[in-house]
Amino acid sequence: MSDTVFSKSFTQQEAIPDVAIEKAVDILKSGRLHRYNYAGDEQGEVELLEQEYAAYQGAQYCLATTSCGTALQIALRALGVKPDEVVLTSAFTLAPVPGAIGAIGAKPIFVGMTDNLTLDLDDLVAKIKAHKPRVFLMSHMRGHLSDMDELCAILSEFNVAMIEDCAHTMGASWNGKQSGNFGKIGCFSTQTYKHLNSGEGGFLTTDDPEIMAKAIILSGSYMLYKKHGARPDLPAFDDIRFQMPNCSSRMDNLRAAILRPQLENLEQNIERWNARYKVFEDVLRPINGLSVPDRPAQEAYVGSSFQFLLPDWSEDACRSFLKDCYGRGVELKWFGDENPVGFTSRYDSWRYAPEQELPETLSILKRLVDIRIPLTFDKDDCRACANIIQSVFCDHN
Ligand SMILES: *Cc1c(COP(=O)(O)O)cnc(C)c1O
Repeated sequence: MSDTVFSKSFTQQEAIPDVAIEKAVDILKSGRLHRYNYAGDEQGEVELLEQEYAAYQGAQYCLATTSCGTALQIALRALGVKPDEVVLTSAFTLAPVPGAIGAIGAKPIFVGMTDNLTLDLDDLVAKIKAHKPRVFLMSHMRGHLSDMDELCAILSEFNVAMIEDCAHTMGASWNGKQSGNFGKIGCFSTQTYKHLNSGEGGFLTTDDPEIMAKAIILSGSYMLYKKHGARPDLPAFDDIRFQMPNCSSRMDNLRAAILRPQLENLEQNIERWNARYKVFEDVLRPINGLSVPDRPAQEAYVGSSFQFLLPDWSEDACRSFLKDCYGRGVELKWFGDENPVGFTSRYDSWRYAPEQELPETLSILKRLVDIRIPLTFDKDDCRACANIIQSVFCDHN
């Protein structure tokens, strides 16, 4: 037991469903990969996917894009964010989030986190007072929803518009309301490591017809915006089509074709993720000295990854723990590294942003460990990983 080694890959996804592969082959044989490559009233795959995702999300409108990162850029532009404007965003997030703000020439100012991996709402109020932003880009990083009632009350008091980055909360909800429906705009990812897999891809959803008309034109619809599946009525585009730059960020039919059958399986996959999450939780939550974030009763989450905080160990002790887990086949990510590694980076490595000090957030990140839970792991695999983490932790503590 003490030297068992885990041998599965933490980055291996499940196969694309057979029906999706058949559909993809049909599209390839037809040669009609571009989303507007349809005649008359025929509906293309992207158009249909937009309708289906809008229905799933419970949103009026949906636009499919090349990625969540481009959806975020489009969202910021659709809200009229200008170069040099301050946009508040979560300090605990992935690089494409501040990256979207930087890409349109605006200035990311970071809001700190709590040790439950949610947003520090006191810091949010302080940053709103200090910077008077119009827009807040909330990243529901690693699927931990902040108290959405309190958060929305603060934003409405100060009249700040919210964009939600739901890359890790597609399918999650707070008090029965879907993540992505709290702000003006929700953005989602269908990149390989998220909840649907088309390699790259994303969605932007909103209930606001003017925002969606802008987003569709921004995505590069030329004058073909009529061929969108979940769009506002045509008069919404009258002026906007001359005002918005074409940012070429359209999804293609091939990706949409492989996403449509996956969307049908999403709810079932959420149950499978949560069953795996619970295995990790059952083993790791009771361990003294290792802290697992609380999951509030209002939150229905998607357990596609698992996080815990190490004790206040030295950097060397953290590294040695990670190395010993790795030696036994358990690949953990750590937010304590000064330098970005792989997909993992920290607010202090995004140096196009103004230099900012967030000492409490930094001390949490230095203890934070993250585990991917691919659906290619069954519950026994998860138990084996969690047992290895437990045994290595006990050796080190
Ligand atoms: C992956 C990710 C994104 C960006 O998604 P892409 O589709 O890869 O652009 C944004 N936010 C978070 C938290 C992510 O993990």
